[in-house]
Amino acid sequence: MLYHSTRSKTEMVGAKEAVLKGLCPDGGLYVSDDIAGAKPDMKALMGMEYEEIVYEVFRLLLTDYSDEELKDCIAKAYKGKFETSDLTPVTKIGSNYLLELYHGPTAAFKDMALCMLPQLMSKALKDEKVMILTATSGDTGKAALAGFRDAENIGITVFYPHGGVSDIQYLQMATAEGANVNVAAVRGNFDDCQTGVKQVFARCSDRIRAERKISLSSANSINVGRLVPQIIYYIEAYKQLMKDGAVAFGDPVDFVVPTGNFGDILAGYYAKVIGLPVGRLVVASNENNVLTDFFASGVYNKKRPFVKTISPSMDILVSSNLERMLYYAADGDCDYVAGLMKDLSEKGGFEVTDEVMARLDETFDAAYADNEESKAAIREAFEKDGRLIDPHTACGYKVAQRMEEDRKDCGESGNPTVILSTASPFKFAKDVYEAIFGAFTKEDGSEPDGFDYMKALAEKTGEKIPAPLAELKSKPVLHKSVVNIDEIEKFVVEGLKVLG
Ligand SMILES: *Cc1c(COP(=O)(O)O)cnc(C)c1O
Repeated sequence: MLYHSTRSKTEMVGAKEAVLKGLCPDGGLYVSDDIAGAKPDMKALMGMEYEEIVYEVFRLLLTDYSDEELKDCIAKAYKGKFETSDLTPVTKIGSNYLLELYHGPTAAFKDMALCMLPQLMSKALKDEKVMILTATSGDTGKAALAGFRDAENIGITVFYPHGGVSDIQYLQMATAEGANVNVAAVRGNFDDCQTGVKQVFARCSDRIRAERKISLSSANSINVGRLVPQIIYYIEAYKQLMKDGAVAFGDPVDFVVPTGNFGDILAGYYAKVIGLPVGRLVVASNENNVLTDFFASGVYNKKRPFVKTISPSMDILVSSNLERMLYYAADGDCDYVAGLMKDLSEKGGFEVTDEVMARLDETFDAAYADNEESKAAIREAFEKDGRLIDPHTACGYKVAQRMEEDRKDCGESGNPTVILSTASPFKFAKDVYEAIFGAFTKEDGSEPDGFDYMKALAEKTGEKIPAPLAELKSKPVLHKSVVNIDEIEKFVVEGLKVLG
């Protein structure tokens, strides 16, 4: 199976090269035209364990990895890193289901992909080494640090804004273990971190490769090696619904997906293309509802106010992976996609044709929940369904409710619906606590910190704080570097020593 850019088909590469490069040289994203031909025996997958499903799907989509390489990747990716025996349990919430994607090392769904990407990257390397550079506003940094910890021939350097992340996020990064990790706080905001990292890529990549045989790379959510692992839990969810007697093989299941960069839901589309009986894929957004508007009108317009919400991982105005979906909806017309992306960068938006819209409508619905609706959803899920959900999942919960009401109005009965639950509620303990119980005050009148909120939430609800969050309090702070914006490059170069 070969991959090429969404914007041209001149360069065809194997999966390994796509994983190493991440982004195509022309700025497009790697896609394959052969995915529809990669049909696993879906019914047989329903009788397999999670890791066996990974193997069967990867064999078809990542064909230039040998069977031994894939087995080794899988053996190293998940084992011992998850709190639950099922990596991604499916549980009831009202008349719907929750697909819990937050039982990994950082208690959020990015773990599902970031446990695997480093393994795939290690195997793709020949005689070179790689330093991953990441600027983070909080969550991705920790998931990347956990995923790349002690990966073979790969190092990771993470920058976050000094004083710009929550106390829990700070500890998650400052206590990160591994002989190959570097972490620094930057005196600046997230944009400064990101700009600094981009400058290092532009200024230093060639020199570092020539002098040290080290490539600089990133672990973006547009990487094929992050996308493909996300297909698996859709299949796993279907399998668990079958086990539960909720569906018979072949019955369509709808998935509601809290969406930012369109990576998670795109993996659902891939699952459908390779034969999973997927009904509707529902894009659930927060107040940054650029995708809701796009799916309603065919017009994508990023020129709008950026809203800071209680679901920060979905505060996104340019949803990168949508480009891949546009490619498929336009029947692989690269010039067309390149034109849309040119409009996006030059005019701040684009409009797709009726034909493309019709193709998208075959599979996707879209809706959003604003901040107040998200909080109300957290409260309702707890009071009515007895479930504790995080603010991202709450957008999905509210949107699923909307879909159900619409169907009732039309007199339709829907498919079984799975809401993807993308983070532990304890990661956002303050907002979740306040949504359900109102303001929290400490007895001594002091300002509560992240641990106070987690503890209070656990006590009030009887739910358990995930171990990776609870144990932060007792872990030693290993990374104390604070750098100025103009010191980012020096920190990266000095950090290369972790690669030997
Ligand atoms: C990243 C993230 C999302 C959005 O996923 P995309 O693949 O970017 O659409 C939703 N919820 C949480 C908690 C996330 O971290």
